[in-house]
Amino acid sequence: MSDNQDQNPRAAPTVCPYCGVGCTIEYAGNGKATGTAGPVNTSGEVCPKGVAAFDMVAHEDRLTEPLVREGGRFVTAPWETALTRVADALGEIIDHHGPDAVEFFASSNCTNEENYVFQKLARMLGTNNVDNCARLCHSSTVAAMSERLGAGAMTNTLDDLSETDCLLVTGANPAEQHPVIFRSYVLPAIRNGATLIHIDPRETDTTDAADIHLDVRPGYDIQLLNSMAKVVLDEGLADESFIGERTTGGAELKAHLRDLDVVAGADVAGVDADAVREAARAYAKADRAAIVTGMGMSQHTSGTDNVHALLNLALLTGNVGRPGTGVNPLRGQNNVQGAGDVGALPNVLPGYQSVTNPDARQRIADEWGVAPPSEPGLTETTAIHQFGDGVRAAVVFGENPAVTEPNANSARSAFDELDFCVVIDLFETATVDHADVVLPGSSWAEKSGTVTNTDRRVMRMRPNADLPGNARRDLDILTDIGQRLVDQADAFDYDGPEAVFEELARVNPLYAGMSYDGIGDGYQRWPFPADADSGTDVLHSETFASGERTAPLLPISPTPPADAVSGDQLVLTTGRALQHFNSGALTRRSETLMRMRGEDVLEIHPDDAAARDIADGDTVVVESDRGSVTVSAAVTTTIRPGVVFCTFHYQDPLANALTGDALDPVAEIPEYKHSAVTVRTAPAPTQE
Ligand code: SF4
Repeated sequence: MSDNQDQNPRAAPTVCPYCGVGCTIEYAGNGKATGTAGPVNTSGEVCPKGVAAFDMVAHEDRLTEPLVREGGRFVTAPWETALTRVADALGEIIDHHGPDAVEFFASSNCTNEENYVFQKLARMLGTNNVDNCARLCHSSTVAAMSERLGAGAMTNTLDDLSETDCLLVTGANPAEQHPVIFRSYVLPAIRNGATLIHIDPRETDTTDAADIHLDVRPGYDIQLLNSMAKVVLDEGLADESFIGERTTGGAELKAHLRDLDVVAGADVAGVDADAVREAARAYAKADRAAIVTGMGMSQHTSGTDNVHALLNLALLTGNVGRPGTGVNPLRGQNNVQGAGDVGALPNVLPGYQSVTNPDARQRIADEWGVAPPSEPGLTETTAIHQFGDGVRAAVVFGENPAVTEPNANSARSAFDELDFCVVIDLFETATVDHADVVLPGSSWAEKSGTVTNTDRRVMRMRPNADLPGNARRDLDILTDIGQRLVDQADAFDYDGPEAVFEELARVNPLYAGMSYDGIGDGYQRWPFPADADSGTDVLHSETFASGERTAPLLPISPTPPADAVSGDQLVLTTGRALQHFNSGALTRRSETLMRMRGEDVLEIHPDDAAARDIADGDTVVVESDRGSVTVSAAVTTTIRPGVVFCTFHYQDPLANALTGDALDPVAEIPEYKHSAVTVRTAPAPTQE
């Protein structure tokens, strides 16, 4: 704790603020957190981010007073002044341009209760323009799984991953990105004899534990997955009784794949055909085979189709609806699952009920006194293109789109086109540079509420510290804004987060049977119907979540990445590192984590480096049509030739200055995993 901010730290079990694993942590003294036994990390195990979670709580950069822009500069202001300015500006814009002129950026790093109130505010004001950064990570996964199976979340649980016979990990690196899942659930399965197949253009710590590695060319996953499906069919490894009883469209898919040439498909995907056959056999012959899927699959303009091709593989082999099987997206932020569950998405209400469903809107109207609008709102990736035009204001709650959106230089310019922007956050993030009002909110350690982890477990958070200075609890800030802006002000009059959760359980059928008391020190898992004794572990066992006994098999054809590579260009693919989280606004303020990984590097294969006269450690310029960055080169054989990699955790180099804003047509997710770039050595600094 810093000397000037006595936040009275104390230990109480709560949920780690970083990744979607949902480890239980608490204050340990000396300004540090520690793991403590919880529902997911049953022995109290945590990764370095969990240990360092307290580092940002009392950081000297914490915002402790509201800021309002006066004459181009920020000045501190009393809460009343700042909130009046927010209410007046948003009210005026809504009066002149209508409620759809405001975009609401929800926070997948904040609680279910906060996100529920946030989307309620947007919808009671008359717009469905509310989204969260699930748009940027797994919206395509959710779209494909919802369409086919009726639910977009992990089909199975972490516990039964450890009982699988074969793990097919696609576009994910759980050893670094979800380390406690890897150590506590994946490695035990491998020690018990499970085969690990890793599909990823990089050789990572996950690959080290794999039996088969398919280093696919970024953007060519469908060719690979269709080739695997073809091997399954050709070699009689499909589960024909499952196909007959639980699927439709089998004949169409088989006809679609009939003439596929596995060797040619593998060649386009950049992998060895024999290895593809070996992987297909291992997956299809296993009694229980589980897919674990990550952003390497989802963050493409073909992201939704990538996941459709993956779902075909699971359905063809009958690997859905049983323990140890399924399709399991690993969620990135600690409450990205919950933010979607509670309705912080433009097309669905709490519980993934479509905004176009009149019965669902009526259930909400019965609770709120106002029906939500019936047309889907704007996704955040589309809204940014309308800033200064149809969209005149943004409410940014605990997110940092100036760093996380693709084509970041363009996104930043777009923010400057707004008439008004308010940011609620802990620090002066890059997005704050574009704000008119900044409201200092609460960190994970200063709030209670619930979050929902990657395997659908709702768990409670408990305060480990008081607020610094005049910062306020996020829930209080949001309800205060609601009371100022919405005619039915009592709709935002709550007696704490538990009262919000009770309302959420009334309007969200997936949470209907849950309660704070029921969650207690443990968890409750969705779906948890009102009349059930507990939640459901394995989805889709008798019927799919869609309510149907069958799910469709779909013919999927590849489409090329949006950013064509030509000349001596390489493909940039971006991702995460163990020590950092999302835009890095929190983890880059940890001395411990910065000691472990203080700066980013560009991973480049020795062949590509030699062709450009680049040596390990050289400073290089990476350039795309959108921008350029300067970064150190790390020459390594762990990345496939033709591909370079860096993370998106740093403001400098800002990886998203390079990425493109072409979107998947269904999910509107950007193609972070495939950007055409040139790489060259940086000019030597000039001597004075
Ligand atoms: Fe656990 Fe994820 Fe937190 Fe690490 S970052 S301690 S794996 S929840």
